[in-house]
Amino acid sequence: MSSLQLKNIYKVYPSGVTAVTDFNLDIEDKEFIVFVGPSGCGKSTTLRMIAGLEEISAGELYIDGVLVNNIAPKDRDIAMVFQNYALYPHMTVYDNMAFGLKLRKMPKAEIDQRVKEAARILGIEMYLSRKPKALSGGQRQRVALGRAIVREPKVFLLDEPLSNLDAKLRSQMRTEITKLHNRLATTFIYVTHDQVEAMTMGTRIVVMKDGFMQQVDSPINLYDHPINQFVAGFIGTPQMNFFKGNLIGDEKKVYVKFGEDKVALPKSKVSLICNLDKYLNTKKEIVFGIRPEDICDANEAPEIKTTIDVNIDVVEALGSETLVYCKTKSASKKTGGSIDEEASNLIAKVDSRSTVKAGEVLKIALDMEHCHLFDKETEITLLARDEQNKNEIEELQIKQAKELKAKEKAEKQAENDAKAKVAKTLEKKRVKRK
Ligand code: ADP
Repeated sequence: MSSLQLKNIYKVYPSGVTAVTDFNLDIEDKEFIVFVGPSGCGKSTTLRMIAGLEEISAGELYIDGVLVNNIAPKDRDIAMVFQNYALYPHMTVYDNMAFGLKLRKMPKAEIDQRVKEAARILGIEMYLSRKPKALSGGQRQRVALGRAIVREPKVFLLDEPLSNLDAKLRSQMRTEITKLHNRLATTFIYVTHDQVEAMTMGTRIVVMKDGFMQQVDSPINLYDHPINQFVAGFIGTPQMNFFKGNLIGDEKKVYVKFGEDKVALPKSKVSLICNLDKYLNTKKEIVFGIRPEDICDANEAPEIKTTIDVNIDVVEALGSETLVYCKTKSASKKTGGSIDEEASNLIAKVDSRSTVKAGEVLKIALDMEHCHLFDKETEITLLARDEQNKNEIEELQIKQAKELKAKEKAEKQAENDAKAKVAKTLEKKRVKRK
């Protein structure tokens, strides 16, 4: 048994940086949890607080129901593997793995049995008498994992353990760590900035930004139902295409209007839009999102009736697929710089045998069953997963709108204060001169 509960956890560094804000998560025994997000979003800080290497500023951390905020790292029964695996260069692989157990005064026979078992699991039995310098990067990382395994901890914490490896080795080690998790049947918490690692390894993923949790979900739910534009853009490569637009139409048919284009929304999507009245035929802007893999050459999918014409900028044939970088009609008709460049660029994944070329006009088909809609202002999704989920989304919209207003007000206040301060200083100088 090794469950964890993180309740309203905050981390404020002495420098005043709030690295983690109100982190709440229940982790069940044997889960593989991944913390993912861009650099500086607070992933490592959260992991280090779990390990006990960083003090928790506020909130409670429970391991198997026991509050551990004030329990020393060595007594938490947790093992951590870092990016720079820091093996002892003068010791053999065997001794590197045995070292921690020797310090704990474990009987020699048991140490031997644990080291050999871990080496067998990791496939490094033949390197036990070698020194780290005689190993490749991947082998060294395996030794670092072995050092953690021999301790038989309740929880494994892994902080970007693969980022020092080359791409091929990284993908190999990725599957090995997944296999290791299945084999050891213990709780894993894994930190990465790489969304591919997160999607392929995690049973649940925590997406973070600026110290705030954005969404906690299974990989497929993050992909299909991103809660906001940030998550939608972060998960998936190439990233989702976004276009500013409006919803127009009537009760029978709703369209997304973006630039010069207008596409119909399927009924299944319309029925899931939260607060449709607020957006339909109003000035309130939305963001229309569609993934490159949900767009193809219209010739490849005659069954898809939603099509638009685009101008091809660049074609990238990757072998297994071809990426087509295009511009929508509104960008082509650009006059006087009134079009938002980014909002008119589009990437489509077409068949790898496609013969389309840069400079051509392409009719693309959009699989609208998989499109996404977000509120332009709050960036929260407009699409509920089902009827029951609608209330939750609506509440989130209201909460986010309030937070944005409060932030705007605070920024304005700060600006006014700064202006007042400058005016006061100038006034003082003026009086002095007199
Ligand atoms: P990540 O692991 O997601 O890259 P970190 O948890 O390392 O992010 O950092 C989160 C934030 O906290 C960043 O703004 C970082 O600069 C800041 N930070 C990290 N460590 C310290 C520290 N020891 N002192 C002050 N600020 C820190």
